[in-house]
Amino acid sequence: MRLDSRFHGNDKDMEYKYNAIVLNKIDTGETDRVYVVYTREAGRILARAIGVKKPNAKLAGNLESITQCEIFLVKGKGRGNITGVIPTENFLAIKKDVDALEKVFGVMKIFNRLMTQEEKDEKTFQLLLDYLLVMEKEAGEKEKDILKFDVYTLGFIFKLLQNLGYKQEVKKCAVCSGKLVSGENYFSAQMGGIICPNCSKQETKKIKINDEAVKFIRIVLENKMENLGKIKLEKKNLNNLKIIANEVVRWIAN
Ligand SMILES: [Zn+2]
Repeated sequence: MRLDSRFHGNDKDMEYKYNAIVLNKIDTGETDRVYVVYTREAGRILARAIGVKKPNAKLAGNLESITQCEIFLVKGKGRGNITGVIPTENFLAIKKDVDALEKVFGVMKIFNRLMTQEEKDEKTFQLLLDYLLVMEKEAGEKEKDILKFDVYTLGFIFKLLQNLGYKQEVKKCAVCSGKLVSGENYFSAQMGGIICPNCSKQETKKIKINDEAVKFIRIVLENKMENLGKIKLEKKNLNNLKIIANEVVRWIAN
């Protein structure tokens, strides 16, 4: 979003304001850093923070990974320079909880692998924000349920794949469109969903999928992030879904 034109000896420099979530930081040189942020207005962008590693640098604290903030950027051609940051949500409960933090960092890694373009995608921005908010809420509970971290995290990954246009057929066979019968189904990343026992004979890259895991993906794709906490998952189904999610991400990112 353009605010106004600034004249920094170069009439092409302009100031922008972004609603952003900090994903990652990259050290460049002795005092500078490049931040990878996902913004509501422009998708994934890289922005430079000059002098951010100097002692007393004010920007650094507000630019920690997993922080939602408003970022002000002066930009001409190429990468912009961060001139100001106002944090709006620090996600402190996540940052204090080892289990939640591990899941969120895993998600950030996958997110970085899949979202490589600078392209506006408000739906995905909102999804990422909703994911962090439910994780924050659970991490802040007195009697938190660690399995819920897994449910939200897997839910987020399948919903992200859906946002990116990756087909996940879970209602009929992705190859022959035949009705799915419980018990003997497989998942194929390449074919884009569940395949029936008959079609699976032709497929070399396939993963056996439990009925509960099929149900999980169906529910996830049709429900909002905040409602996924009600889903109960057994450990074996959780592991089955983790393998499938990893396989799809690997297939897309390669
Ligand atoms: Zn089939």
